[in-house]
Amino acid sequence: MTNVPEIFGSMVFNETAMRERLPKEIYKEFQKTLNEGKSLDISVANVIANAMKDWAVEKGATHFTHWFQPMTGSTSEKHDALISPANNGTVIMEFSGKELVRGEPDASSFPSGGLRATCEARGYTVWDPTSYAFIKDGCLCIPTAFCSYGGEALDKKTPLLRSMEAINNQALRVLKLFGHKNVSSVKTTVGPEQEYFLVDKEVFDKRKDLIYTGRTLFGALPPKGQEMEDHYFGTIKTRVQAFMKELNEELWKLGVLAKTEHNEVAPAQHELAPIFATTNIATDHNQLTMELMQKIAKKHNMVCLLHEKPFAGVNGSGKHNNWSISTDTGINLLEPGDTPKENAQFLLFLCAVIKAVDEYQDLLRISAASAGNDHRLGANEAPPAIVSMFIGEELDSILKSIVDGTALDPKEKEQLKVGVHVLPKIPKDTSDRNRTSPFAFTGNKFEFRMLGSSESVSCANIMLNTAVAESLSLFADELENAKDFKAELDKIIKRVIKENGRIIFNGNGYDDKWIIEAEKRGLLNLKTTPDALPYYLAEKNINLFLKHGVLSEAEMKARYEINMEHYSKILNIEALAMINIADKEILPAVSRFTKELAQTICAKKAAVDKADCSYEQAVAEKLSALTGAAYVYSGELKTLAEKAKATNDVTARANYYKDVVIPKMAELRAVCDKMEEMTAKDYWPFPSYGDLLYSVK
Ligand code: ADP
Ligand code: MG
Repeated sequence: MTNVPEIFGSMVFNETAMRERLPKEIYKEFQKTLNEGKSLDISVANVIANAMKDWAVEKGATHFTHWFQPMTGSTSEKHDALISPANNGTVIMEFSGKELVRGEPDASSFPSGGLRATCEARGYTVWDPTSYAFIKDGCLCIPTAFCSYGGEALDKKTPLLRSMEAINNQALRVLKLFGHKNVSSVKTTVGPEQEYFLVDKEVFDKRKDLIYTGRTLFGALPPKGQEMEDHYFGTIKTRVQAFMKELNEELWKLGVLAKTEHNEVAPAQHELAPIFATTNIATDHNQLTMELMQKIAKKHNMVCLLHEKPFAGVNGSGKHNNWSISTDTGINLLEPGDTPKENAQFLLFLCAVIKAVDEYQDLLRISAASAGNDHRLGANEAPPAIVSMFIGEELDSILKSIVDGTALDPKEKEQLKVGVHVLPKIPKDTSDRNRTSPFAFTGNKFEFRMLGSSESVSCANIMLNTAVAESLSLFADELENAKDFKAELDKIIKRVIKENGRIIFNGNGYDDKWIIEAEKRGLLNLKTTPDALPYYLAEKNINLFLKHGVLSEAEMKARYEINMEHYSKILNIEALAMINIADKEILPAVSRFTKELAQTICAKKAAVDKADCSYEQAVAEKLSALTGAAYVYSGELKTLAEKAKATNDVTARANYYKDVVIPKMAELRAVCDKMEEMTAKDYWPFPSYGDLLYSVK
């Protein structure tokens, strides 16, 4: 039996380890610099580094690394041994404060979007002391931010930390007005639910498309998909159970609060949800979770697919970003309270989110935009590409009655003026019923459901934190100068519901009628990544990030370019992989099968009187027509992919892939999938959808 409390956090240099191992005054000094956000004195850093090294060496570590999150979306590490030469050719284990706080990886190959001229290829990693160091595979990992020589963010962590700072500052202003004296910080919290697929490694290895791109580029649908809905919450298979057990244990050792696990809707699909944590820690933990899922699956002879749409025709994988705001005194600001004052405060924070989601719907959409997620959003299993917000009928009717004062009796009408009215407790299950909303209020938090499974949650939270910080800052500006606080509050809430209420939609987000309705409301419907990303450069968005010190204009332009470029690169790989598989595997295999049919026809006719060759004849005819078409499409795709690649402008290139290359890929796939349906199984060159989806027995 695993002793969970004993192993939990055992590989993390956390509060307990620090208190145990750091001299009291150093620990105090460290806490002080943390709270005040100042940089650490090198003498203090030296003591911490030494204690960290002793702790890590005792746990078997031999190396250290600055662990960071470049714009590639994964995490990066470069290991250095914790050794220093001593006398007589011996070594001692050493780790200095300088090595702890700052690193200089040769960073020339990380995407910078032009922020770092190649002649100044240096990038710096800087310790993020708010996220604990940990040991992974014998290596002491120091969570760091990654930036250029000039201090521009080259990673996903730096702006996230800045956005947390922004919402902290603005929320504190508002809370002060509500009379909170002992609140000294406000943090956003995140619990990311992670979906993934598991397939058998041997079966996976036979699929070049999965190997190169993480998704199937070909594949006829199997006789059984997810229509029986027998996988959701079904019994977990022994092999998967063993994987989950090891995953949980490894995550617990790293202090990740892995909590819920279950089978998802599609065959071979599963989900893991942790208990929520402070946003930057939850983000680090989600990256670690994805990394460990892949590593541990291999140990169990399986492969974990984190792609948003590994298989056409069955559900893809998303990531639900559960998000809330709490004070250091333990108040969840998105939880309706028990007193009128608490309720007024709740309504104001709710309005801050409504306003943010409406006015910055483009930014939220961007945070879920990727080549992989384009296959999900708007399809019938995931939220539409339109951002809207679900708040539940109870809350909706309360907001409506605040606007028009339509309470039942005159006494209540008076009460509805904010500050007096007592909100009913919003039961979690009533507010959680709508599964189709991209952004749903679930009782004491919002669940942002558009994110793709493979993406870091940082971007979504950068957008959310900053947009909500902006609403709060505008509210604070007004309220700080108000003569009558309650009247001003009432005015703000009414105005937000009137001006931004269009974002609220409590109906079925999968319904086609919603798309028409959303258009009438003037909501954006940004269907693809190249449609969404240009909003990075919208003036209002640049101003927003500048105002709150989260991203400079140059950093935003860089992010736009990196993401557009990333999209194009993925499509280039997918197009080339398709051509390769069609030309080298599918066409030769089908040609061999057609030959077999033709030979059979001859043989049958020679040997059998009045031989019936209708099957062989019909299939051979169809297949030969389809191979002809596939050959043409593959050639055309090659020409188009070359043309796309040669397009210089990043925007034009991405759009060319979207408008021209993708439709050609779809044509090639359609004929190949038809051939698969007609070709004898032993001729088809790789495992079918059925083989993949039911590969883990
Ligand atoms: P469901 O599948 O119904 O969405 P889950 O239990 O799978 O629910 O996931 C809910 C997620 O929300 C968990 O990760 C949980 O930790 C997280 N969560 C709960 N409260 C908060 C909060 N205050 N802030 C952020 N996340 C939260
Ligand atoms: Mg959920």
